[in-house]
Amino acid sequence: MRYGVIVCPRCGMAKGVETRKKTTMCQCGREIKLRRMKLRFQTDSPKELAESVGRANAAIRGGEQLPPEKRPRKKEPYSAIAERSQHAKDPVDRMQLIAQALTDLKGEFTEEDLGKVLQSLGKSSPKDMVAKLQQLNLIYETAEGKFRSV
Ligand SMILES: [Zn+2]
Repeated sequence: MRYGVIVCPRCGMAKGVETRKKTTMCQCGREIKLRRMKLRFQTDSPKELAESVGRANAAIRGGEQLPPEKRPRKKEPYSAIAERSQHAKDPVDRMQLIAQALTDLKGEFTEEDLGKVLQSLGKSSPKDMVAKLQQLNLIYETAEGKFRSV
C-alpha cells in the first residue's frame, strides 16, 4: 500500500503519509519516524487517504472539546447587578441590594457606577438614588463622591 494514516504523538491529529518515506513532518512541527508508527489505515488511493484522514480527525476532535471560537463574553457586572436587583420587590431592598453589590464589586462606588446599573434598568437618576440611600442610612460617603454600603 502506498499510503497510510498515522496519529501524531505530539498533537494527536491524524495525518496521511506515504508509506515508503522514513519520516514525515506533522503540521504541529513534530518530525515523526514512520517506522515506529502504527498505520491506522492503508490504501493506494490518495482520495481514500484524504477521506480517512478527515474521518480520523473528525473522530479525534469529536472526542475532545473544540477550542471555543471566542470566549463567551462574561456578563458585564453592572447589568448583572441590575438583573439581580430586579428580584427584590421592595424598592428600598432593591436600592440596598444594588449598593451592596456595587460595594462588593468596587470596594466603594460612585454615582457613575450607580448610573451604569440604573441604565441597565432603564432608569437614570443616580443622584436621586444616592440621596435616598444616604437618607435611609444605607450608604455612607467615604470620600467626595464615593460611597459604601453600610
Ligand atoms: Zn503533530
